[in-house]
Amino acid sequence: MASGKIGVSTKDLFPIIKKFLYSDHDIFLREIVANAVDASQKLKVLAQRGEANANVEELVVRVSVNKDAGTLTVSDNGIGMTRDEVEKYINQIAFSGAEEFLEKHKDDAATIIGHFGLGFYSSFMVSDKVELLTKSYREGSQAVRWSCTGDPEYTLEDDTRAERGTDVIMHVTEEEKEFLDEQKIEALLQKYCKFLPIKIAFGKKKEWKDGKQVETSEDNIINNTEPAWTKKPADLNDEDYKKFYHELYPNQFEEPLFNIHLNVDYPFNLTGILYFPKIKNQIDVNRNKIQLYCNQVFVTDQVEGIVPDFLTLLHGVIDSPDIPLNVSRSYLQSDGNVKKISSHITKKVSDRLEDMFKKERTTLEEKWDDLKIFIQYGMLTDEKFAERAQKFLLFKNVDGKYFSIDEYKELIKANQTDKNDNLVVLYANDKEAQFTAIQSAQNKGYDVLLMDGQLETPLMNQLEQKLSDSKIRFTRVDSDVIDKLIEKENAAQLTLTTRQKGDLEEAVRSQLPKMDKINFTVSVEALGADDMPVVVTQNEWMRRMKEMSQLQGGAMSFYGEMPDSINIVVNGNHALTTKLVSDIEAKTKVQLDPVYADIDAKSARKGELNKAKEGKKDEEVPQAEKDEMETLNKDIDGLNAKKQEILKSFAGEEKLVGQLIDLALLSNNMLRGEALTNFIKRSIEMMK
Ligand code: ADP
Repeated sequence: MASGKIGVSTKDLFPIIKKFLYSDHDIFLREIVANAVDASQKLKVLAQRGEANANVEELVVRVSVNKDAGTLTVSDNGIGMTRDEVEKYINQIAFSGAEEFLEKHKDDAATIIGHFGLGFYSSFMVSDKVELLTKSYREGSQAVRWSCTGDPEYTLEDDTRAERGTDVIMHVTEEEKEFLDEQKIEALLQKYCKFLPIKIAFGKKKEWKDGKQVETSEDNIINNTEPAWTKKPADLNDEDYKKFYHELYPNQFEEPLFNIHLNVDYPFNLTGILYFPKIKNQIDVNRNKIQLYCNQVFVTDQVEGIVPDFLTLLHGVIDSPDIPLNVSRSYLQSDGNVKKISSHITKKVSDRLEDMFKKERTTLEEKWDDLKIFIQYGMLTDEKFAERAQKFLLFKNVDGKYFSIDEYKELIKANQTDKNDNLVVLYANDKEAQFTAIQSAQNKGYDVLLMDGQLETPLMNQLEQKLSDSKIRFTRVDSDVIDKLIEKENAAQLTLTTRQKGDLEEAVRSQLPKMDKINFTVSVEALGADDMPVVVTQNEWMRRMKEMSQLQGGAMSFYGEMPDSINIVVNGNHALTTKLVSDIEAKTKVQLDPVYADIDAKSARKGELNKAKEGKKDEEVPQAEKDEMETLNKDIDGLNAKKQEILKSFAGEEKLVGQLIDLALLSNNMLRGEALTNFIKRSIEMMK
């Protein structure tokens, strides 16, 4: 028997290994199993070249737990090692590799959050003694047993092992006893080894017999050695892709929308399959499902910072030998290769979508509603993608037709360009609630988009800025009366006098309901005689601010607190309005004429006083004039109040006023509770 001291000066190496890796000590199993897989792969290559005599069909890595002995063993029938190789690879290289690693990261302890490997020596994270029994594939080689108890001392002696291959026997420490639990080990193997290229067996398959579970003679194979992403796209059909999706996510019952098979070998190696899931509105729930592999060894499923933010919404796998396995996440994020990979994937994703747009338009349209939030999120968070996506972004109109940006511009150009040369895109976000407004827009020959997604407000903001070539403006279809939504040169004219208009507004204003968090305004506008007599509009800018604030919070939340401002627009050209105006005149003339005359006289006097004041400093204006001015102002206020009183009492008697307001509110689904009951009562009375 030989013994020796491993050629390392750091005698505290083992405590450091344990401490360093505390946060993620699970990965020792991945490291040891990956070594066994490597050894098997190497033998396969040698056998294929005729340099080794072995049946590669029988290659299997066995993982087993012996609770009584307190050991966890990983065995392979790969190339094995000779005594010299153990000296070289285990005592010198592996150990110095571990030392170098710790040296490199010793100042970085806090930022290392796992996902690196220490190779063979990570077994000491969970063991107080590790034995390695090995016999090389080389003809006539002597088996050896290496043993080390957690300090740099080791022993190396001949062994009687007859078969080629290696056993790594880990004597699990008291604190790490959980690694003797079969369920725990099986879960770890499922996580890290599910797609390794050599069969991994963990015990035997079990079956139900006579009411209990019994072991069969069949190996319990943990992994799929040929996962779909390692195959050629030509050899896979839709079903294969779907099957693999469910293999990746056994708890996911939804089918993916479609997939992209990645296969790059220059300037870096990358394979993988990305799936577009149905995201709907659950952006956060669906994040971080992509799994990163390095030669079929699981690295991480925490891909933020590694792939662009919006791609974390995709599902699937990415496998690249160029993704460094043995480094911390912060390193991974700044790694040049990783950055290239990420921009490459972005490009692939947009290429695929563009391709679908060109060649599978119907499929794209069918899936669009489930897909759009992903694309919109990508456009909002990744400039490059935003640029590319302009080619395949679709708009859907309220009739369910889809258009690309260019197609849509072409469609509406003639009819929806306003007098200032803005292309006005009308949209609704609730087909039911905005039905009336949609209908009046369609009656005018306008098209209305349906923008009912979570991200559509910020997307519109972005498009208005980005599509600056054509001065595009998005306006919700109910944000103004139809003629003002898209202002044209030949707008309808109002036939009312200033007094008629003012009195009408006042009468309507006096009957507005009181509603929580809503500010009402009233205006009389010139609409077509066939349009509605009263409509409700909501200012586009204010509403968008509010929507953005709900999405972002923070500094914008100020807008979120503001009341909604709702404008009640009376159609000055409608027959009902004309009738109302004559009624107002007929019933208030006697009372209002003297008030108006008074106001006129007092305003005229104010005009004189203001004229006299011109060019004088404040102290040069006689006190008497100042006093008179003050009295005039007060009087006019009083007269205006009186005028309001008169109009209010008229409007209170005249059911038509309240009825018109209520109809407008009702058509916007804003009439509820007592107001609704009052409306119904009034309607009945008016029908008598
Ligand atoms: P790495 O795998 O990164 O080279 P390790 O510390 O894991 O580093 O292993 C060091 C070396 O020990 C390996 O390169 C390999 O030559 C040898 N080795 C480890 N495990 C086995 C095994 N199960 N069979 C054969 N050789 C092995």
